[in-house]
Amino acid sequence: MPRKYDAIIVGGGHNGLVCAAYLAKAGKSVLVLERRHVLGGAAVTEELHPGFKFSVFAYVVSLFRPHIIRELNLARHGLEIIPLEASFLPLPDGDSLCRWADPQLTRREIERFSKKDAEVYAEFGQTMMKMAFFAKSIIDHPAPDPTSRKLSELLKMLGLAKRFKSLGSDLTYLHLKMLTMSALDFLDMWFESDVLKAPMSVSGIIGTFLGVRSPGTAYVLLHHYMGEIDGAFRSWGFAKGGMGRVSLAVASAALEFGTEIRTEAPVRQFLIKNNSCKGVVLENGDELEAKAVFSSLDPNRTFMRLVGPMHLDPEFRQQIRRYKLRGSSGKVNLALDRFPEFACRPGAGPHLRGDVAIAPSTQYLEKAYDQAKYGEFSERPYLNIVIPSLVDPSLAPPGKHILSAFVQYAPYHRDGGPQTWPKHREAFGDAVVDTIAEYCPNIKESILYRQVLTPFDIEQMTGLSEGNIFQGELSMEQMLFLRPAPGWARYRSPIRNLWMCGSANHPGGGVMGAPGELAAKTYLGTVR
Ligand SMILES: Cc1cc2nc3c(=O)[nH]c(=O)nc-3n(C[C@H](O)[C@H](O)[C@H](O)COP(=O)(O)OP(=O)(O)OC[C@H]3O[C@@H](n4cnc5c(N)ncnc54)[C@H](O)[C@@H]3O)c2cc1C
Repeated sequence: MPRKYDAIIVGGGHNGLVCAAYLAKAGKSVLVLERRHVLGGAAVTEELHPGFKFSVFAYVVSLFRPHIIRELNLARHGLEIIPLEASFLPLPDGDSLCRWADPQLTRREIERFSKKDAEVYAEFGQTMMKMAFFAKSIIDHPAPDPTSRKLSELLKMLGLAKRFKSLGSDLTYLHLKMLTMSALDFLDMWFESDVLKAPMSVSGIIGTFLGVRSPGTAYVLLHHYMGEIDGAFRSWGFAKGGMGRVSLAVASAALEFGTEIRTEAPVRQFLIKNNSCKGVVLENGDELEAKAVFSSLDPNRTFMRLVGPMHLDPEFRQQIRRYKLRGSSGKVNLALDRFPEFACRPGAGPHLRGDVAIAPSTQYLEKAYDQAKYGEFSERPYLNIVIPSLVDPSLAPPGKHILSAFVQYAPYHRDGGPQTWPKHREAFGDAVVDTIAEYCPNIKESILYRQVLTPFDIEQMTGLSEGNIFQGELSMEQMLFLRPAPGWARYRSPIRNLWMCGSANHPGGGVMGAPGELAAKTYLGTVR
């Protein structure tokens, strides 16, 4: 008799692994099936060029839930996070702005552009922190269900309303405004200097097909403000050894609790009988049975491909079809034979031990978006650059460096169709390198290896449909009780025994582990 598992997890990205670890910790027999040879999904480290180890996709840890680190003992399993020290903005005229962990240093930097902004900056940070604390109470629990009449749900809504009210009327109004405003309109309420607003506004557009002036992007700004490392609020960090270490630490915990993990084991379809999921069929034809199946894939892949539209009722099918993926980002990874010098602040100073934004003005960002709206990649894109080998020398040979550039915009639905991306891949890579070269003149001759990832490549490699980095846009109409579909925001699906545990579920994308944890705890009935 073939073995029947308590749970099969489809996809060994970090959320699938977190889900597996919690289920196995509770004594369940668990099998994880991962399509690729490497675990981690979009959170992987790979040696792309001899001696150079890249965080191929995700590159900084921000939202990973500290209680998951504690509950799964991830530090013992090798997870170490190195905080980012600065956020650096080089400018084309040779000037620059650096924001530091030290508020006094930051104030002095901002003062050069606007005395008023320097005064307000700290107050803005405190206000965002207060609002993010409220939002945090939402991301650490399953989404509230405003349509339910169950007493337990009504009490949850009441608790939430009380917490909302405790913000005070000013913050309550601000919070409500934030739901509909654009990132730039929101920042305009506080600041006057474009040099400050441009790099701040980009947090509102990451992973969306929206511009900094598009309504709703102010909320995404808040989502990115929730980064924390083990309780140190608003801090982002590098995972020592690259992002794959996050996934491997979770995998190691899951294995210790007895999870079985198979790589190079792609699932072809779910076994559905009488609207109930009985297991999975692998690409090689093997059938595996389980009492419950958890999909960590996006809804398009889960329902349209592995379940099949014929098993879905028309309304749900329509909701999944309407779910917005619309990938808009790419990535360029470079192996360098020397340190990349930024002309405006030469040297490998502390200003580069964090992230570097190529976002010289809000007009530059809007122009970048304009091209994407018409199906082109931005010739001068917004870039978020990190040089993690500066703080973690284990990633590159001595004296050499890796540079990662997250790029926006690169629309999946490019003019000519997504399948034309491979033809334009190198031109896209050239646009990114040319952009970096405007600030970092020695870059071109120092490149030993370059990997260019278009949204089409991201889809092919990770399985993220349309290359959307968050398994679906983090826009308001796809958040909370609407993610991934109204009525299905609690990790269950309309197919009995088929659960969802990936980033397409509340509270959404990013390497945070929350959907995996909350799915497992909801299944186990131990959710708070
Ligand atoms: C370019 C890029 C940059 C990013 N930068 C950051 C960042 O710096 N910080 C951050 O917090 N977030 C970042 N993100 C977002 C973040 O990486 C994702 O939201 C997160 O990793 C998704 O995790 P997941 O486990 O939900 O899904 P995934 O990582 O998508 O995992 C799903 C897994 O399922 C596997 N799979 C697919 N189909 C099958 C099948 N049929 N059978 C078996 N297995 C299958 C895939 O191979 C994959 O391993 C970035 C993402 C990208 C793409």
